[in-house]
Amino acid sequence: MEENNHYDAIVIGAGPAGLTAGIYLSRAKLKALILDEGTVGGQMVLTHEIANYPGAESISGYQLANIMKKQAKSFGCVIRSNISVKRTELEGEVKSISLSDGYTYTSDSIILTPGGRSRTLGVPGEDNFKGKGISYCATCDGDFFTGKEIIAVGGGNSALEEAVSLTKYAAKVTIVHQFDHFQAFEHAIEEAKNHPKINFVMESTITAFHGNENLESVDIKNLKTGKTSNFRTDGVFIFIGYIPNTEFFKENVELNKWGEIVVKSDMSTNIKGVYAAGDSTAKKFRQVTTAVADGTIAALSASEYLRS
Ligand SMILES: Cc1cc2nc3c(=O)[nH]c(=O)nc-3n(C[C@H](O)[C@H](O)[C@H](O)COP(=O)(O)OP(=O)(O)OC[C@H]3O[C@@H](n4cnc5c(N)ncnc54)[C@H](O)[C@@H]3O)c2cc1C
Repeated sequence: MEENNHYDAIVIGAGPAGLTAGIYLSRAKLKALILDEGTVGGQMVLTHEIANYPGAESISGYQLANIMKKQAKSFGCVIRSNISVKRTELEGEVKSISLSDGYTYTSDSIILTPGGRSRTLGVPGEDNFKGKGISYCATCDGDFFTGKEIIAVGGGNSALEEAVSLTKYAAKVTIVHQFDHFQAFEHAIEEAKNHPKINFVMESTITAFHGNENLESVDIKNLKTGKTSNFRTDGVFIFIGYIPNTEFFKENVELNKWGEIVVKSDMSTNIKGVYAAGDSTAKKFRQVTTAVADGTIAALSASEYLRS
């Protein structure tokens, strides 16, 4: 094993939790490496505007991610993105991470920050029209629907905030939600309800997507009456939650029934020297601030473990 492939800590995932862990570890003069299978920033880069991150009144997720990345690197943290982790050995004093490009890194501690991904509706036609009328990211695809009539599915904070952001482009946004109430902050509900371009179809769900080359219509079932109607639409944005990216770690790391990593208050997992932070862990609220807080605790706990 090459000496320079050994780190004090390896962080898997470069979202806000992982980047914060990298900042704290490197600033404590520990040799830290962050690995990400995608681009740096995680879910933050899908967010057009973050208005609730203290100290940055309003900032794009992409910008915030770049600042965090720059900050981590300025302290000496090494970041590798667009890599694929092939194998992990987390037990034992020396951990190892092998990548599909042949690199193997070893470390004395690991911090898992793999976050989560969008949940799909899983109904007929959804796979056929992904990118052809169906999207999971307002920031990425909103512009394609300028002047169009679209549907936003979901009733949480992301759904309502993103539906409002889509009104910058779309002529009309119909929010389809399965319950008769929303699971979002009051201010997000108010903003959506008061928006002239937004209307609501409550207690309903999409049961099928139809079209030829592109999406043209959806079947919407009223869950109260059981009646299904066909609605013409130019596009559907789906914001119905996430699935933790933990499948890869399930053989070793303790997960709960939702696939979330079980952590103690110091962010330690069931494996000695292995910590976890952010959206992939078992917790109620998932925000950039909570990911950042978890990443801080995980890094400080790992530092303490390394000192001992
Ligand atoms: C549309 C949208 C809008 C949002 N708006 C806001 C907002 O306004 N304010 C707010 O505070 N929060 C917002 N959030 C939530 C916030 O973005 C997340 O809570 C936060 O990004 C979670 O951080 P994380 O570091 O835990 O995980 P993530 O951001 O999900 O990052 C995880 C990273 O790990 C990588 N990864 C996963 N598996 C592996 C693997 N096996 N190997 C290597 N790398 C891996 C991923 O590629 C990803 O880059 C929003 C989320 C979305 C989707």
